[in-house]
Parts: sequence; C-alpha cells; structure tokens
Amino acid sequence: MKILISNDDGYLAPGIVALANALAPIAEIVVVAPDSNRSGSSNSLTLDRPLSVYRAENGFYFVNGTPSDCVHIALTGVLSFRPDLIVSGINQGQNMGDDTLYSGTVAAATEGYLFGIPAIAFSQVEKGWAHLDAAARTAREIVERRFDAIQKPYLLNVNIPNLPYGDLKSAVATRLGKRHQSEAVIKTTDPHGREIFWIGPAGAAKDAGEGTDFHATAKGHVSITPLQIDLTHTAQLDALKKGLA
Ligand code: MN
Repeated sequence: MKILISNDDGYLAPGIVALANALAPIAEIVVVAPDSNRSGSSNSLTLDRPLSVYRAENGFYFVNGTPSDCVHIALTGVLSFRPDLIVSGINQGQNMGDDTLYSGTVAAATEGYLFGIPAIAFSQVEKGWAHLDAAARTAREIVERRFDAIQKPYLLNVNIPNLPYGDLKSAVATRLGKRHQSEAVIKTTDPHGREIFWIGPAGAAKDAGEGTDFHATAKGHVSITPLQIDLTHTAQLDALKKGLA
C-alpha cells in the first residue's frame, strides 16, 4: 500500500510525525505538508504566486502553500505513483460538525478524494497532543481496516478523544453534529494604535445528539463520519424551480 500523508498544522507538527511513524511499518509513505501552520485554510489553492517543494532532513516534503496545494502538487507533479490512500493529520484539535468546512485537515483529504483516491482525515478532540501515541495507533488500525464494504473513493473524517489507548472506546459511524454560530471577533489595537481583529473561536456544539460526532467522542468513542462534497440542497430544488417558473 502506498500512502500520501499531509496535514494543516505544518510538516513539523507532532501529529504528522506520529502519523508517519505509525503508518511507515505498514505502507510506503510520502509526506507532503505545509511549511507552517495553515489551520483553517479550508480547500484554498494558491493561485497568486508560485509554489516550491523542499525536502526536510527526515525525508518529509514541505511546501509554502496550503494543505490542498500540497496534495494537489503531490498528485499531479511530485509523486511518481498514484497513492492508494491519502491520510491527513493528526490534527491538533477537533474537526467536528461545521468545523469540516473550515478545516485544512479535512481539506487535504478532500483534495485526494476529488482525484478519486480514498482519503481519511484524523484529528484529536482536544488541543495539546495529550495521548498522541494512542491516536497514532488508532489511526493505523483504522487505515488497516481498508473499508472494503463502502464504495471507493471514500472520504472519512475521524475524531479521536485524547485518552490513553486502553481507555478509548470502539470506533463508531457518526453523522456531523452542528455548532452554534461562531463567537465574535476579538477587537484590539496594534502597537501603533490601529484597530485590529482576531477571528474568535468556533461556536459550542448545538446538535450534539445521539449519532453525532460530538456525542460519540464525548462518550470516549472514536468517531468516523463519511463525508460527501455535493452541497446541493436537494430538498429546496423543487421550490426554487417553482419560484423561477
Ligand atoms: Mn490544524
């Protein structure tokens, strides 16, 4: 098995190092990741400047671009083979519910999925890297499952509670929950007295009911949500057609 690994926390992040170390014994791996933290970059591609690919001492490739850039460049310009799987993460912090729209971790996986390659995004629920070894071991086990029962390509979003391996509960299939709207921006001034803004935190969970990613991880389960990309609001199509008639 050949696996392309990326992330949005940057190629130096503990999460991608742990993921690469966990997958190296079971696959041929190549790491292509951003040169710096690009969390929240969603599916953006860099179109206003050229991109460069560098190689670190540990063999990881890093790019002065976004997670989507990394996977896009790897698949179309760097790799001499087509990977069997794209794996992203392990992200520092959860990507649940509406987070998936903003997440660079999910985006790296999505870019592979858009090229027809199965892809899995991994995130730890809490920031701080606690029990990263357990998350990496869990990620390897999920990769090894191969998911032959679901149609390829698949796009799976995995969230892992920060628990010791022995305390993690089974992996369960979930749907995305929903968050309340985001917190307001934080308004402050720079050293020159000019007004500046920091984007505030995501909203708290709103739909965290049974069956959601929020619910599963709160109970200590590993959450796996199958994602799709078609944003069409099918239920509104007919009403819109009538409105336009
Ligand atoms: Mn991140």
